[in-house]
Amino acid sequence: MARIGIMGGTFNPIHTGHLMLAEWAREGAELDEVWFIPTGTTYMKASLESASAAAGMPGRERLHMACLAVEDNPAFHCLDLEVQREGRTYTYETLEQLKERYPGDEFFFITGADCLFSIENWRYPQRIFQCCTLIAAVRGEYTLPRMEEKKRELEMSLGRVILLPFPAVDISSTEIRRRIRQGRSVRYLVPDRVLDYIKEKGFYREESI
Ligand code: NAP
Repeated sequence: MARIGIMGGTFNPIHTGHLMLAEWAREGAELDEVWFIPTGTTYMKASLESASAAAGMPGRERLHMACLAVEDNPAFHCLDLEVQREGRTYTYETLEQLKERYPGDEFFFITGADCLFSIENWRYPQRIFQCCTLIAAVRGEYTLPRMEEKKRELEMSLGRVILLPFPAVDISSTEIRRRIRQGRSVRYLVPDRVLDYIKEKGFYREESI
């Protein structure tokens, strides 16, 4: 039985914070592999700005950047199953699909702190927790006591949660897009291969994406 981390994200674009989170989770939860799954047509997202940003960048391009980002790490893989799916993509569907395909494996859904506080409002949270343990990074505006309280609450109603100590890495896809639009450097914020691809394609120079 393998322990598989699932790193879902809009990844518009994927950046060093995402990769570090996956690596910290791999080590902290003793995962054998981490599978990166870029979202397809986006669901609800707290920030409308981000939702429209994802809508403006085709899934296949976000997927390609994610694949470039993980290609030098043998424990990291990139899956196209959400980008390939017709209609909206929901996490419960992805996890149920993975459980069905790989019944012997154990899944861990890796998220930042925000998701810990919003996952109850996602589509069918019970079904999500039936398929996986949630790994949430302790980061951002959320303090450890607040996250521990939320973990207890979720564990009473939904399922297992692991809190992952994580250094503050103040990088966001929104900020990366903004910097590119302003003609500023994003070197080291994204892997070099992703940066080369962004430059080659001229991504994020316009306001709409
Ligand atoms: P994203 O913005 O690309 O971020 C991906 C993940 O990386 C998030 O968990 C985010 O944590 C974390 N992250 C971002 N910047 C980070 C940094 N600097 N350091 C450490 N971690 C960082 O993707 P997203 O749009 O939030 O989506 C995340 C997943 O949630 C996707 O798989 C999506 O399908 C799923 N989702 C599902 C539903 C649903 O099924 N109804 C609803 C919403 C989201 P934070 O959460 O803390 O930003």
